[in-house]
Amino acid sequence: MSRLDAVIFDVDGTLVDSERDGHRVAFNAAFEAAELSDRWDIATYGRLLKITGGAKRLAFWFESTGRSPGEAAELAERLHKRKTQIMRRLVEDGQVQARAGAHQLIDEIEASGVPVHVATTGTRAWVEPLLEHAFGNRFHTVITGTEVPDLKPSPAAYLEVLRRTGCPPEHAVAVEDSANGVQAAVAAGLRCVAAHNPYTRDDDLSGATLVAGGLDDPALVAWFHRRLRKRPDE
Ligand SMILES: [Mg+2]
Repeated sequence: MSRLDAVIFDVDGTLVDSERDGHRVAFNAAFEAAELSDRWDIATYGRLLKITGGAKRLAFWFESTGRSPGEAAELAERLHKRKTQIMRRLVEDGQVQARAGAHQLIDEIEASGVPVHVATTGTRAWVEPLLEHAFGNRFHTVITGTEVPDLKPSPAAYLEVLRRTGCPPEHAVAVEDSANGVQAAVAAGLRCVAAHNPYTRDDDLSGATLVAGGLDDPALVAWFHRRLRKRPDE
C-alpha cells in the first residue's frame, strides 16, 4: 500500500450532486431563454450524460432532433454560453450543495496533512464559485475544462494536476463518480476510488480500486481512513 500524498477530486456528481439539480436545470433555462421548446427531463438528461462536456452534449442533442450540423453547432455554442451564466447564478444562490459525506471526507484528508486538488471538465466560471460557496476554497490546485479543453475520458486534466503539484501518480488517488472519470484517472496512472450516484450507478466503474455508493459509504470512509493513518512520516 503506497503512501498517499494527494487526493484529486472530480466535481460534477462527485463533490456535488450538480447534474440533476444544477446543470439540467440550467440547460432547460437556457432553452427557455432562447425561446426553444427543447427540455431535458431527468431520464433524458441521464442518457445525455454519456456525452462529456456541455457544448458537445448540446450539439449532439440538436443534431439528433433534426437540426443540421451547422445549425446544431451554432446553437450549441450560443446556448452553452447562456447555460454557463445561469449555472453560475444557481451556484451563487446556493442551489448546488455538497454531496453527503464530502465535508467529512475532506476534513479527514486535510487533518492528516494531505492536500486536496480538483480535476474537472467543468467551466471555471461556475466551478470556482461553486468550490468557494460549497467548500470554502480548500483545494490547492484546481484544473478545469477552461485550462484543459481535452475532456474526460482524456487524462489531460489529471496529468495537469500531477504536473503542477509534482506528485507522482502512484502517490495520489482520484475520486470519481462516472465511467468517463474513472477512465481518465486510470489513464493518468492514478488509483481511483469511485462513488457512484443515481445517474452513474450502472456505469462501468471496474477500473476503480473501490466502488462505493457515496462519499459517506463506510467502505470508502474506511479505505481513506486506513491510508491516511499509515503515513510513514507520522
Ligand atoms: Mg463526474
